[in-house]
Amino acid sequence: MLHKIGVLTSGGDAPGMNCAIRAVVRAGLRFGLEVYGINDGYRGLVEDDMVKMDRSSVSRIVNRGGTILRTARLREFKEESVRQKAVDNLRRRGIEALVVIGGDGSYMGAKKLTEMGINCVGLPGTIDNDIASTDYTIGFDTCLNTIIESVDKIRDTTESHERCAIIEVMGNHCGDLALFSGIAEGAEMIITPDHPVPEEEVIRELIALKASKRAMAMIIVCEKIYPNIHEFAERIGQATGFETKAEVLGRVQRGGTPSGFDRVLAARMGAYAVDCLLEGKGGICVGMVNNKIVDYDIYEALQLPRDKHASMLRLINILNK
Ligand code: ATP
Repeated sequence: MLHKIGVLTSGGDAPGMNCAIRAVVRAGLRFGLEVYGINDGYRGLVEDDMVKMDRSSVSRIVNRGGTILRTARLREFKEESVRQKAVDNLRRRGIEALVVIGGDGSYMGAKKLTEMGINCVGLPGTIDNDIASTDYTIGFDTCLNTIIESVDKIRDTTESHERCAIIEVMGNHCGDLALFSGIAEGAEMIITPDHPVPEEEVIRELIALKASKRAMAMIIVCEKIYPNIHEFAERIGQATGFETKAEVLGRVQRGGTPSGFDRVLAARMGAYAVDCLLEGKGGICVGMVNNKIVDYDIYEALQLPRDKHASMLRLINILNK
């Protein structure tokens, strides 16, 4: 019989993490468990920084971005001796199982802790949508909407000045934020790891656009493709005659009120995670596939091929040219 569980957020923060924390705490209490909030991700486990949560600990947080438990990256958690400290602290407090909300790195930590006797369930909390075992990660939809709002504003000024705007969005090495926002914006070009566009082609297309008297262009680019997006914009401007400005949206993409979609996704996944722990499961991660909440073994999940959204890549050529 399970008595005490913990919940933590780890890796990059994402809007909707608070809704997931709330769901874990409320579902845990509802099923008679004691629930502990662990501060600063895995660091809180190692430094024994945990607090007992009650119903009101998670009141009025559904609309707050970030994470009330804060998050951290702790490289040393890859070392077994450091994880052993975490296990010792948990055992001393009688905490038997954990919900870990984070990205694929956090999943690895969760799997390894499970192998050391603490059942862990991972929830996909990341804006990047780079986890193959779920159609959507918690935070992706909010971030997408933030990008759309910002790009709409950049579009106004780009149109007024007849410029070319090259907008770099987050996603780490996953192009979903660029692809989805590019489709939503009807961007003239979308450049992602799954849809690379050689520089000569960018130049050729922009020259053709200018010749066709379409006096503005919006190009959405996934981060980490160009080492320096400003230098890229400079080269494009010189080669095409378009006045070209690079914009890096930056951390504004991480914050803000979570969207309805992310809140509901987080609530469903958080409650499901508690069900899994009550069933004695561990070393698994939760996903939403075809609108159903499901779970996978973490190692298997991390091996799954990522959906490259072939139908959306096709849309780039049909709608955005
Ligand atoms: P994001 O997708 O937002 O970057 P993430 O969870 O992938 O989130 P990481 O920095 O990769 O972020 O991992 C978060 C933490 O998980 C690390 O700081 C570390 O504490 C732990 N972690 C990562 N990889 C491992 C591993 N192989 N073994 C044990 N712990 C790990």
